[in-house]
Amino acid sequence: MKFELPKLPYEIDGLEPFMSKETIEYHYGKHHQAYTNNLNKLIEGTEFENAPLEEIIKKSEGGIFNNAAQYYNHTFFFEALRRDGQEGPSGELLKLIDKKYGCFESFKEQFSAKAATLFGSGWTWLIVDADGSLDIMQTSNADTPIREDLKPLMCIDVWEHAYYIDYRNARPSFISRFWEIVNWEVVESRL
Ligand code: MN
Repeated sequence: MKFELPKLPYEIDGLEPFMSKETIEYHYGKHHQAYTNNLNKLIEGTEFENAPLEEIIKKSEGGIFNNAAQYYNHTFFFEALRRDGQEGPSGELLKLIDKKYGCFESFKEQFSAKAATLFGSGWTWLIVDADGSLDIMQTSNADTPIREDLKPLMCIDVWEHAYYIDYRNARPSFISRFWEIVNWEVVESRL
């Protein structure tokens, strides 16, 4: 077994009440675990058996791609959450946000709108473009910015499994409470 389910940097109930223990049990304990197991099973005996994750994501298709990308996306998502963190970004990241979006509140509105309007299952990302400026990107299903060599800074999972236990069909409520659990130190460290 090559890839392992990464340890969470908080307790299983550490994001209550914004993300319940039950959601983490399913989303991390079942879904992220299943992507990990499937990836390991599918690469066995293929050219990807000993390849680094990013190479698998860039070169594979079908089931291998879906599970590799979801393994990466979920790791990226869960590692950048915490409770009682900073209320927003600071330093260089805040400067870039102000430059592109005018202010943090305006960025939040635009990011939230993109996440709310993504049709079906997928992800919304804050990325750094090829020219060094920030952008908000939507990806469908397992798709991920690193496939296109774009640098992701943060993401929100808007697959129904990310919010249905806590918020039922109310994706916008999940998105509005997501801001309470972003770990901006981790997001800034990715710049
Ligand atoms: Mn998910």
